[in-house]
Amino acid sequence: MKQTEAPYRFALPKNRISHSGRECFVTCPEKWRRQYDVKEKQRPALALIKGNIVHAGLGYAASEQLLHNPRPSIKELMRYTASMVEFEVARSESDSGYKLDWDEEGETIHTLRRQAVRAVEAYEKLIGHTLVPVEAEQMFYMELPGRDYVISGRMDIFDITGFLRDYKTSGKKMEEIIPVISDQLTLYQIHRESKEAKAGELKVQIAGLALDAIAITAGGVEVQPLEVPPRTATEKQECLDNFDATVGAIRSGYFPKANNWRVCSWCGYLEDCKPGVYKAAKEIKRLKVIADEAAAAKKAKEKQEKDQAKADAKAAGLGGKGKKKTKITGGNDHG
Ligand code: SF4
Repeated sequence: MKQTEAPYRFALPKNRISHSGRECFVTCPEKWRRQYDVKEKQRPALALIKGNIVHAGLGYAASEQLLHNPRPSIKELMRYTASMVEFEVARSESDSGYKLDWDEEGETIHTLRRQAVRAVEAYEKLIGHTLVPVEAEQMFYMELPGRDYVISGRMDIFDITGFLRDYKTSGKKMEEIIPVISDQLTLYQIHRESKEAKAGELKVQIAGLALDAIAITAGGVEVQPLEVPPRTATEKQECLDNFDATVGAIRSGYFPKANNWRVCSWCGYLEDCKPGVYKAAKEIKRLKVIADEAAAAKKAKEKQEKDQAKADAKAAGLGGKGKKKTKITGGNDHG
């Protein structure tokens, strides 16, 4: 009997995929391969560390409230958040094997601490103090019917009012479309519904989904509670179809680089990728502006010195000329 070769199937690591894993693959398959398959180390990004610190503070608030009730005071949360800064920096440096480049990031450990603490304070004042969590900081692994892989994730908070909330920090204001298209929120809902379906009852009806955006900018902190209705059955199906398509693409074992700086954020893996070339061109332009400014300043200084020297010389000359000569005339006062 003729043996037919089984089609090639790249193994999805641990046969699992998360929302961020899918997002990475959609951005650039090559980036996904290096990050999730080869597990190449990446330089720590300060924005990510900042997000982790804020997350740690808010996660602590929800977990403590869930376990001990009441929610810790704002002061305690601010203290806890401040105490997490060194830990998160050290953790990300040791995970990546790279030292954080504070000069390049343009920040110090003090500005990082101040911003993270302010972000937690602002969130608490606007939203945190109103929350009563039913579930918080929960890892989930979903084995869904008809799928031979697992979808994993971590849910930030499911509140007694029926809102599934995800907090996200960023360096700018969040676009209002993001919660409408967020796969992460859809997964929260699918996870929560499947969990309650397994338990045989729907204890808290899902009232909506919320993306609590915490914009940390030089001007301060702005919290935007962006709330949207729960996903429809069609929207949930679309989300799962997208996951199926991504898993299929990963299993094909073909990982092209996206090479599109409008989509990917330059990972620094491949020097010949357009984003890398674009970044280098931008850097050259930046250095040229600095050099031009320095040259212009030098020219202006030289001119100023020249003008000053001229003025000094003139003043010295005038001093000589300016001395009034006493005219000695012959006297005619002979009367
Ligand atoms: S720089 Fe290249 S490899 Fe990295 S994410 Fe962009 S396209 Fe992909």
